[in-house]
Amino acid sequence: MYPLSRTDSRDTDSIQQRQKGELEYLVFPKLEETGVVEHLFTTRTGGVSNGIYSTMNLSFSRGDDLECVRENYRRIGEVLGTDPEHMVASKQTHTTNIHLVTKADAGNGITRPSVYDDIDGLATDIPGIALVTFYADCVPLYFVDPVHRAIGLAHSGWRGTVAGMGACMVRYMQEHFNSRPEELVAAIGPSICVDCYEVSEEVAEQFREGFPEDVLQPGKAPGKYQLDLWKANQSILLRVGIPPEHMAVTNVCTCHNPEYLFSHRASHGQRGNLAAFLMLKES
Ligand SMILES: [Zn+2]
Repeated sequence: MYPLSRTDSRDTDSIQQRQKGELEYLVFPKLEETGVVEHLFTTRTGGVSNGIYSTMNLSFSRGDDLECVRENYRRIGEVLGTDPEHMVASKQTHTTNIHLVTKADAGNGITRPSVYDDIDGLATDIPGIALVTFYADCVPLYFVDPVHRAIGLAHSGWRGTVAGMGACMVRYMQEHFNSRPEELVAAIGPSICVDCYEVSEEVAEQFREGFPEDVLQPGKAPGKYQLDLWKANQSILLRVGIPPEHMAVTNVCTCHNPEYLFSHRASHGQRGNLAAFLMLKES
């Protein structure tokens, strides 16, 4: 398997590499231990796309050959034990909007055009429907309620993080599934690390209130800051009541592993998309 670079060698179990044939993907043991979901986070390996999309690109809208993207989805479906007809994609625009996924949404944004726009979070209590969200440095947030058998998946870049996307999803699951924060299991997935994520004063300013002070580190360049999106999202989930022992936090940075994971920063935007998949098992 690819020699993954980790930012923290103390916690190699928070996220693990798995393999099926040539396809490599990442999983959170903590989510697996709930016993109620199938999930994964994709890598660039095991797909059929070429060039800057090589090889496992899951975006239909970045210029890749659509037949290649369809084949990539089929291969991921095989790993999850489903097919693209039973997947539902977000339509991300850095909002905190969440869509309640029903059976009628099956295939949305994957086998047929998306019927909605501006959706950065997906939630459902229907088994056998895989939720799909997209990444190339932004933060994937996974939520599993093993008690009420419900799931949520959210895209949280810096805008989503400032707006508290993780807390929005927990509240949404409370309202729709009677979820209790103390029973949720959450994972903060592969994304850009503090060392790689330089931000401007304008962005830094928005993290001065409502977040721990150390989410902002002194910049390597004058007038710049390093932003810790992992710690910022972790603080949001802790504050909303998810116990620390129910939470897995990535130590895998997309920008540190640009051959293995798509990174917007590392590729200067010449890239495909990674994707997070989360599906309730049939009980
Ligand atoms: Zn990094």
